[in-house]
Amino acid sequence: MCGKPSVLEGLCANCYNDGHPLIEVSTPLTLLACKKCGSIKLADGWRKIAGDGIHPDDVADYQIELLVERSIKILGKDVQISLEDERKLDRVTHTIMTISGRSHESLAPHDEEYSVEIRFRYGTCETCGMMSGGYYEAILQVRADGRGLTDDEKTAVTHTVTDTTVARYKSDDKAFITNTIDDKYGIDFYIGSENLCKYLADEFEMQYLAERKDNYKLVGEDKTGKRKYRTTILIRLPRFTVGDFVKVDGNPCEIVAMGRNMLTSYDLKRRERFSINPRSPRWRTLEFLAPRSSRREFMITTYTYGQPVQIMDSISFEILDVEQSVFESEIAAGEKIYALQLEDELYILPHQNQLKE
Ligand SMILES: [Zn+2]
Ligand SMILES: [Zn+2]
Repeated sequence: MCGKPSVLEGLCANCYNDGHPLIEVSTPLTLLACKKCGSIKLADGWRKIAGDGIHPDDVADYQIELLVERSIKILGKDVQISLEDERKLDRVTHTIMTISGRSHESLAPHDEEYSVEIRFRYGTCETCGMMSGGYYEAILQVRADGRGLTDDEKTAVTHTVTDTTVARYKSDDKAFITNTIDDKYGIDFYIGSENLCKYLADEFEMQYLAERKDNYKLVGEDKTGKRKYRTTILIRLPRFTVGDFVKVDGNPCEIVAMGRNMLTSYDLKRRERFSINPRSPRWRTLEFLAPRSSRREFMITTYTYGQPVQIMDSISFEILDVEQSVFESEIAAGEKIYALQLEDELYILPHQNQLKE
């Protein structure tokens, strides 16, 4: 074409490159962004940018990058793209793209420059739209058996709900909480995604050894006549928590640890630790006995080897004698201990550090 010696298909390298561009891109490109969260609309749906760690000042550049990446068609080999804003107006940005690559394997790499106009449009993404409309598919109710939720439980449950929702937001468009009701009975979470609600329910059921009830309520029909249900999952935490006293197989026990489908207790009669899970036959014998607050504090007043140990109630100053054999670890006069009084029996509680082992 130009008269220089040919290297490929009867053309010189320049003429070959001219006829074989490295990329194809159209201009102008429209960038539709959510004004609330910055997500951008791509051919296959909304692309979230929250959680990508982008500084607010760099959001527009990042949005352009994502859009351009998806809008160009790569034709050459070893193609690399770099973008540079040429002119920024209110809703229009002119971007210069420098493309490096080879138009054919046998040719040396070269650069090409393209000027692309990006037109910004703003709207509301599906997720923000559903959130502001109060959309929810499921309600997760967290309660406790025969008592209100403690503040610690409320905090822990809320943390788990928040962390899980944030973690799943990227992959689940409906991973959001539209409403939370916190009252003396417990907490209700109104959750956009039924999947998320079920996942959380599984977690709490396992973590707290909780009872669970799934309810489906018919809320109407969609346009095609298909019935629509709303899910409510009730998670009821047990009456007891770590430090409380329960009966297992009729024996008084102190709860040492709870979680991951496992309840670990210390049998005060047999003086030993054991674990049960909700599928164990012994689980059915489990009953609440007394809260942690019902234990009594004593001080060891006199301790002589081979003699009964004398202890004094820290509140009533009542002095009692107990057998030395009930103490598992070394004791010394002046030491603080705890015991549980049940009818005529006084059970010395094991040391907390002993229980954690
Ligand atoms: Zn030529
Ligand atoms: Zn949005």
